[in-house]
Amino acid sequence: MRTLRAVDEVREHVAAAGAAGRSVGLVPTMGAFHDGHVALMHAALERCDEVVVSLFVNPAQFGEAADLDAYPRTEAADAAVAEALGVGALFVPSVAEMYPDGFATTVTVGALGEVLEGAQRGPGHFAGVCTVVCKLFAIVAPDVAFFGQKDAQQVLVVRRMARDLNLPVEIAAVPTVREADGLAMSSRNGRLGPADRERATALRAGLEAARAALYAGERDPRAVEAAGVAAMAGAGVTPEYFALVDPDTLEPVHPGAQRVLVVVAARVGPARLIDNLPLDLEPVATR
Ligand code: AMP
Repeated sequence: MRTLRAVDEVREHVAAAGAAGRSVGLVPTMGAFHDGHVALMHAALERCDEVVVSLFVNPAQFGEAADLDAYPRTEAADAAVAEALGVGALFVPSVAEMYPDGFATTVTVGALGEVLEGAQRGPGHFAGVCTVVCKLFAIVAPDVAFFGQKDAQQVLVVRRMARDLNLPVEIAAVPTVREADGLAMSSRNGRLGPADRERATALRAGLEAARAALYAGERDPRAVEAAGVAAMAGAGVTPEYFALVDPDTLEPVHPGAQRVLVVVAARVGPARLIDNLPLDLEPVATR
């Protein structure tokens, strides 16, 4: 595996692959690999001939300096994981390589980036994500880019950007990988002490309570949300948001919606965690 730090090196690498007729897959990450990242790399290696994994802790998408400072950085261990899987190139740019002096351009996608995570973390969050992902697409020119369903809003935002800007890349979403007790894997889970790690299962418990309420026939979204929040309270966690939204637009769903995305975010001790559950429901029986 090659570790590349300069944009020009990446361009040469992928141009050689393209000249040989090889398809290129991109897996954008911020490092500190866990099995969620591994699932993305597996999916990319399965679909594409040449896989580039980017590892860049993107300052532009962090609202809080403390969160950026505390973000784990484990490049050597990450490189070993990627190499063992068969990844061809790891792109590890410096901040100066991505944002040279005078950098001034920002990509935003409007309302889709302003709700939920955008409302909590500020509009700069998805602007930071879009800008860096747009740059990665321009640098790597992938045929397919792989993102985790764990960050459901991020998948939608990136798809919207690619569609609106006619970027010639397919966006593939990979299902959420979880710990044995249902906690979605996250680089931030490592910040949880034993008591907070236990409380963190509240997110999954809330989502499961919402699923149970829906499957039991409850179709009032507010009542379903209340059931999820109550389940979380039982574990001592109050969500920042817990909502039933449309899986394409992220707008609140109406009673009787068949496709529902249940989304949750909560602070648990020192970590801010998110999770979601996409559901396809039976049509509501009509009289
Ligand atoms: P990150 O390094 O946290 O920015 O994540 C890089 C990519 O991995 C993003 O597309 C995430 O959605 C994805 N990812 C993070 N956690 C998981 C998980 N538990 N399951 C699947 N994908 C994940």
